[in-house]
Amino acid sequence: MEITLLGTGAPLAIGRRAFGILISGPGREPLLIDSCGGFELAEALRAAGIDVEKIGSAILTHQHLDHIGGMAALLFANRRVKVWSNAETRRATTAVLGAGFPEIGLDRDVEWRQVCDGSWIEHGDLRLGFFAVRHRVPTLAVRIEWSGGAVAISSDAAPCNRLTECASDAHLFVCDALCQSANGRDRTARRLVHCTAAEAAETAREAGVRRLVLTHLARFADAQTMLAEARSVFPGPVELVEDVTTFVLPRAT
Ligand SMILES: [Zn+2]
Ligand SMILES: [Zn+2]
Repeated sequence: MEITLLGTGAPLAIGRRAFGILISGPGREPLLIDSCGGFELAEALRAAGIDVEKIGSAILTHQHLDHIGGMAALLFANRRVKVWSNAETRRATTAVLGAGFPEIGLDRDVEWRQVCDGSWIEHGDLRLGFFAVRHRVPTLAVRIEWSGGAVAISSDAAPCNRLTECASDAHLFVCDALCQSANGRDRTARRLVHCTAAEAAETAREAGVRRLVLTHLARFADAQTMLAEARSVFPGPVELVEDVTTFVLPRAT
């Protein structure tokens, strides 16, 4: 089980693509969770060793453009894609694709399946669970389970019970951490309904995860301060990585 963070930035981050995650591994059909901000998705996937046309399935966690913007790239490369999302995300994505390329009908062949809080689906040997989390629009965090363990992906989320439940005992928790708390930035994170690094760490501690990765950094994020704040709260390993970093997780424990 391999999880690659294709993009680790919020919309205006410098030097980081917007949010996109690739789930892959030997013998496993690659799955995309969110699609970065736009056509740079193809470049990010190439850097991860997978051509964009090889992606046959995608989960969209919510309708914000820094998560759905790469769907045009995905559908230009391969029109027959299976997508899971909530109803709001489907509506917004279809509207964006239809407005941007009205002459093509990019989403015509998409096999769209609706998921909501509490849904579980199978994808090969993976079980994928969806948890409604607190954000500005309806948003689903994703839990991925396989015979070897579990990974939790927060999407964009402020602290809430469902986020903690999603992350419960996970081997790896990839959590939204917009910025540090210092210098009043915690107020910015609260206003925008994201976690700070310390809140991501508190959630990780409560959920009992083994390892925490901070992602979705704002342009005003200070990585060193964020790491220090998170490490003062969460006793396990905390990481903050560059785009296209892959974590390899065990098949079985
Ligand atoms: Zn968002
Ligand atoms: Zn976002």
